[in-house]
Amino acid sequence: MMLDEYDISRYDRQIRVFGVENQEKLRNSTVLVVGAGGLGSAVLTYLTYMGIGKLMVVDEGIVELSNLNRQILYNDSDIGKLKADVVCRKLKEANPRIYVECFARKFDRVLGEELVKKADVVIDALDNWDDRLLLNELCVKYKKPLIHAGVEGWYGQITTVLPGKTPCLYCIKPSRRRAKSTIPVVGVTPGVLGVLEAAEAIKVILNLGQPLYGRLLLIDLYTMEFRSIEIKRNPLCPVCSILSAES
Ligand SMILES: [Zn+2]
Repeated sequence: MMLDEYDISRYDRQIRVFGVENQEKLRNSTVLVVGAGGLGSAVLTYLTYMGIGKLMVVDEGIVELSNLNRQILYNDSDIGKLKADVVCRKLKEANPRIYVECFARKFDRVLGEELVKKADVVIDALDNWDDRLLLNELCVKYKKPLIHAGVEGWYGQITTVLPGKTPCLYCIKPSRRRAKSTIPVVGVTPGVLGVLEAAEAIKVILNLGQPLYGRLLLIDLYTMEFRSIEIKRNPLCPVCSILSAES
């Protein structure tokens, strides 16, 4: 699909950075975002405004008052509504030229199999490691780039998985995972990490810059220290070790 005058004008400032052809590439891309909470609000907003052609969003949740310190896609009048319905409406209003498909369903293997293979890039905007590891497994299976972020308090982490080349999330998963519980989060933390996920997604789609391949960026907003550490593949990883480095 070619860009017309409206698009050229709408995306003018970023076309000046990476060119019309790359803007067309964004238009022709599909991104799957799993989770429409704090991380999801930020990443979805920027992917929408930057002109990703198709977004697929999965979230079974309902908007609650306690979401509203950080989940900026929602407001008080949305309380009690399905997040997926609100997201679809808001994103289409924000950019009528993009296609948004929302799934008000629990993220599970059946839905994941259906959606991951259709995506060019997959975004982990989840809040628990069970779903995250399932998403990771499917991304490795279909060799889809996966952008992971996680947040707690003032802290966040982000990396980008390129199956067969970089560590997968199973290679770096925490050895002890907490039981599902309410994670304390300062409003800005998922905002920062979600925006970084959007930046990574754009670079991966356009093959620009240096995405966080094999690097885990640790962010401490309390001290304002950002530090990236090298991460290595686990040669015995039950998920990704079957993929050779050449594949
Ligand atoms: Zn692995």
